Amino acid sequence: MHVIRTVSGMRRTAERLRRRGTLGLVPTMGALHEGHRALIRESVERCRRTVVSIFINPMQFGSGEDFRIYPRGLSRDIRTARDCGADIVFTPDVDQMYPSGHCTRVVVAVLALRWEGASRPGHFEGVSTVVAKLLMIVNPTLAVFGQKDFQQWRIIQQLVSDLQLPVNLRMVPTIREQDGLAMSSRNTSLSKAQRAHAVVLYRTLNNARLMIGSGERRATPLITSMRRSIMAEPGVQLDYVGIADTKTLAPLRRLRGRVVLLGAVRVGRTRLIDNLLVEVA
Ligand code: AMP
Repeated sequence: MHVIRTVSGMRRTAERLRRRGTLGLVPTMGALHEGHRALIRESVERCRRTVVSIFINPMQFGSGEDFRIYPRGLSRDIRTARDCGADIVFTPDVDQMYPSGHCTRVVVAVLALRWEGASRPGHFEGVSTVVAKLLMIVNPTLAVFGQKDFQQWRIIQQLVSDLQLPVNLRMVPTIREQDGLAMSSRNTSLSKAQRAHAVVLYRTLNNARLMIGSGERRATPLITSMRRSIMAEPGVQLDYVGIADTKTLAPLRRLRGRVVLLGAVRVGRTRLIDNLLVEVA
């Protein structure tokens, strides 16, 4: 396992590895948990060599968001990546990724303005800029992302397609705690009481999925029920819930085909997101 801290070093090593076979990339912001492990294993299974990037990307945090207090633990993360079979941890510092004077932004129109984009202006500009840069530095055969951030996944798919980048993409299903809470680096910021309330987001999305299973096809009653359920939970503030087309992420009025139920809440100072994909018969 090698740890690489410079862009030039990563580029050189990646070029060498690419000549010998397939190369996977798993972009992360560290504080690795079971969800990240699943992504790394997916890459290790599919590629000869795997790079895990660990970079807390300041560009994707708004002012007043949790960049400064985002959980950090590099030595533990390096062990985790190694235990999952990764070959390289790429962990550049901010000056490596954004040397002074850096002013280019990658903007994926429309998709980036909905849902998370509406709540966190500029967030996806930061995400697409850093992912585009990581893809160009590592030039992997495969890049692996989680369903947990479904809107991010769609934006990256679009970015890769629009910029005609020669990389395959894979999405790994969301890994959850036993009670259904989606694993997230941010869960460690929750107090015991907050942790108990946080599961309402998953439960709510899952109840909506059950209602769809029982034949409900109208978005309005589903959204009303989801809003009620979250607003009734003590200590939890609703940001948004919605039902969208999985391609365009546009909100739907009547459900058909493959849809995504998605939501975001705030539990104390911690913001949590989740989603479920549902095939509507
Ligand atoms: P992050 O470190 O939060 O930026 O996430 C890095 C990657 O891990 C992203 O592709 C996320 O979608 C994915 N990820 C985060 N949490 C989970 C989870 N619980 N299950 C599956 N993938 C996840």
